[in-house]
Amino acid sequence: MSTPATAPATATRPSEPVLVVDNVTKRHPGGVTALDRVSLRVDEGELVAIVGPSGSGKSTLLHIMGTLDRPTTGTVHIAGHDVHTLGDRRLSALRARLLGFVFQHFHLTDGLDATENVATGLLYAGVPRRRRRPLAREALARVGLEHRHAHLPQQLSGGERQRVAIARALVNRPALVLADEPTGALDAANGEAVLDLLVELNAQGTTIAVITHDRDIAAHLPRRVELRDGRITTDVREVSAA
Ligand code: ADP
Ligand code: MG
Repeated sequence: MSTPATAPATATRPSEPVLVVDNVTKRHPGGVTALDRVSLRVDEGELVAIVGPSGSGKSTLLHIMGTLDRPTTGTVHIAGHDVHTLGDRRLSALRARLLGFVFQHFHLTDGLDATENVATGLLYAGVPRRRRRPLAREALARVGLEHRHAHLPQQLSGGERQRVAIARALVNRPALVLADEPTGALDAANGEAVLDLLVELNAQGTTIAVITHDRDIAAHLPRRVELRDGRITTDVREVSAA
C-alpha cells in the first residue's frame, strides 16, 4: 500500500498499528550488537512491558521505537509512517505529535513550575501558546497533580516529579507513550503508584510501552516482551476471559 507523497508526516492513520519494528539490528560504535533481528508490533490500546537483564538491549530498543536512534538495519513504522524515509525535521515533527517519553530520572527543567514543565511537551507540536497552559493543567489533573500545578520540581517528591513527567508525555495525546524504567529512581510505594497510574491511563485508552527490570511489576501487565542479549526470547499476552 503506497502513500501519497503529500501526506503530512504527522497524520495519524487509525487503521495502522501504532508501531511496527521489523527485523531491526542495532550495532553500536565499538561493535556491540545491542539488538539482533528484533521484530515487534504494538497495537492501539496495548500496555506492553519490556523486560530483561541489564545490557540486554531494552533502552536501545526503546530509543529506536521512539525514533531517537536509527537502526543499523531493519525498519520502524510509527502509525504507518516509515521512519527511515523522514529527514530530521519531519522526524522531530512526528515525534512531537505522536510520541511521549518518560525517563527514569524525570528530566524536568529546574526553573519551571509543574504547569510550565508539562507545557514544554507542546512546544514542538504546533500548539498555539495560549492553548498550552490550559492543556498542561488538564494533563496535570489526569495524573492527580492539579493541586501542585505551581510547584517547582525541587518542591515535589520523586513520585510527584515522575507524575509531572508523565503528564508532559501525555499532554499532546500521543499515539504511543514510551517509558524507560519509570519506577527505577523511586521507592517501592512511589514506584507502585506510578505503575498504577500507567495502568489507569492505559485503561482510559493510552497506548504504552514500559521498560522495567522488575519482574513483579511486569507480571502485572497484560503483555510481556523479554529481551536477552539483544533478542526477543518471549512475547506473551495475558489471555483475558471474554
Ligand atoms: P539495557 O537498557 O537493557 O540495560 P542497553 O540497550 O542500554 O541495555 O544496552 C545494550 C548493549 O549495548 C550493552 O552492551 C551496552 O553496553 C551497549 N550500548 C548501549 N548504548 C551504547 C552506545 N551508545 N554506544 C556503545 N554501546 C552501547
Ligand atoms: Mg536501560
